[in-house]
Amino acid sequence: MSTLEIKDLHVSVETKEGPKPILRGVDLTIDSGKTHAIMGPNGSGKSTLAYSLAGHPKYQVTSGSVSLDGEDVLAMSVDERARAGLFLAMQYPVEVPGVSVSNFLRTAKTAIDGEAPALRSWIKDVKGAMEALRMDPAFAERSVNEGFSGGEKKRHEILQMELLTPKFAILDETDSGLDVDALRIVSEGVNRVKANTDTGFLLITHYTRILRYITPDFVHVFVDGRIAEEGGPELADRLENEGYDRFLTSATA
Ligand code: ADP
Ligand code: MG
Ligand code: MG
Repeated sequence: MSTLEIKDLHVSVETKEGPKPILRGVDLTIDSGKTHAIMGPNGSGKSTLAYSLAGHPKYQVTSGSVSLDGEDVLAMSVDERARAGLFLAMQYPVEVPGVSVSNFLRTAKTAIDGEAPALRSWIKDVKGAMEALRMDPAFAERSVNEGFSGGEKKRHEILQMELLTPKFAILDETDSGLDVDALRIVSEGVNRVKANTDTGFLLITHYTRILRYITPDFVHVFVDGRIAEEGGPELADRLENEGYDRFLTSATA
């Protein structure tokens, strides 16, 4: 069993006018095998939380802590975080011309495991995961993220997650910009990882629709840089019906 523990996290983002405080005391503990949904209005700081966990240099932690099984995540480089078992979907959004998807995946797997995967089973795993995500085999030979459509980028993220089997996966708005078919395929990928591994998930989303396919164990409502309310999956249903108005009113009152 692993635990990712975020304690009283305060984060400022670097802007032209200087540092701007965004996260104002986030407390969240995720155990292996559990799925936590973070939901909230636009601009509430959800992506800032994801970038902070990813170690993005623009996001400065001003106080609080993040630990994985007691190890200080904030002291780790981006690579060290990946090796420690954190998977952040936005970690590799950049185009990598000349590096094929298949080489990229193998390099990432080797870096995380500390040894190259056995070739034959690896090829089989990649092929199986791509089939399950209904990806054209030719996709494996394309350059990473070069000319990928929105849907291809998301599938590529899920493909990475399925093959790298992280301890914790943080998916920021994996549902945005997907049509219903792509949303279902991507959700099935997440559900396969949920069923077959002990990965814990932080599923960040503005909309409730992905939660029709992926049932969270816990729902946290994020408002103005912190968690305003917590509950079970029924909280997502309530948000679907009521929206975020009640939180926004209290946040500005
Ligand atoms: P969410 O993902 O919930 O929509 P974000 O974390 O993207 O929210 O943004 C939270 C707030 O931080 C917003 O007001 C946004 O404008 C601000 N912000 C985020 N990143 C930057 C940045 N690089 N420069 C300036 N402001 C930023
Ligand atoms: Mg946003
Ligand atoms: Mg966002």
